[in-house]
Amino acid sequence: MTMPLNLWLAAFAFVLGLLVGSFLNVVIARLPEGQSIVYPGSRCPRCGHALAWFENVPLLSWLVLRSRCRACRAPISARYPTVELLTGCLFLACWLRFGMSWSLLRGLLLVGFLVPLSFIDLDHWLLPFELTIPGLAVGILSAALLGMDALRDAVLGAAAGFLFFWGLETLVKLVLRREGLGAGDKWLVALLGAFLGWQPLFGLVLLSNVQGAVVGSALLLFRGRAGPAAPAPGVTAPEVARPHPAKAGPEEEDDWSPGPTHLPFGPWLALAGLELALLGPLLARLLPESLARVLMGGLAG
Ligand SMILES: [Zn+2]
Repeated sequence: MTMPLNLWLAAFAFVLGLLVGSFLNVVIARLPEGQSIVYPGSRCPRCGHALAWFENVPLLSWLVLRSRCRACRAPISARYPTVELLTGCLFLACWLRFGMSWSLLRGLLLVGFLVPLSFIDLDHWLLPFELTIPGLAVGILSAALLGMDALRDAVLGAAAGFLFFWGLETLVKLVLRREGLGAGDKWLVALLGAFLGWQPLFGLVLLSNVQGAVVGSALLLFRGRAGPAAPAPGVTAPEVARPHPAKAGPEEEDDWSPGPTHLPFGPWLALAGLELALLGPLLARLLPESLARVLMGGLAG
């Protein structure tokens, strides 16, 4: 039995995603701590045991070792295989959506930036400039591969997304006299505008807010809090409370820490961006035409 080429390529996209996801785990763990993402190799966070190659195979090692460190038997978080599997599925989705094209490359790059940004925002409530600024640049430059029109849309998208969120942030500060939006969010919106163009920006804002509100309310209802569990005393508290220039100036949020009704907004923006990028044609078929046009702008056509 021979597998058709398309199946091979789909499997290749998935496996490539698993491998990239394994690297993104390192980025998620080390970048917020200011550590090198290249050196040293992966280690057990508890005993420092350096992982051999066969302990570092995406997904499989976690399953074979039954989610424990081989040296000290410390449990290994399900987060690692989750990020690998998620990236694998998103790479596969990119392949199914775009096929062999420059848009496929841009889709993979977008996933490569959004996955670590989302998980770092979940963990630390920050969207590091080390990811948002290169992502913004890659989004604009790679648009040039698709031609001058795409390049113009990318620049417009980045500028419009940034200015809209910057305006919103300023307004919230002036009117409500409080921090309503993380300052890092406008850089993520700029990144998404660079990759998606200006057309779906309104849909992006709408989708991310609606989905965030629905899930946040459900979490409040069933779990009593929407945000992450309160940090263990002395362990993660300094990290969570540490002000970061990507999120807000130190004078603004010096003693701010997430309350029970807070959810970081970055993951919702990322989710909405991926939905619009990967499910665009599907949404256009399923949704009433007017709603699809509102959500996706020019992408629907
Ligand atoms: Zn260990």
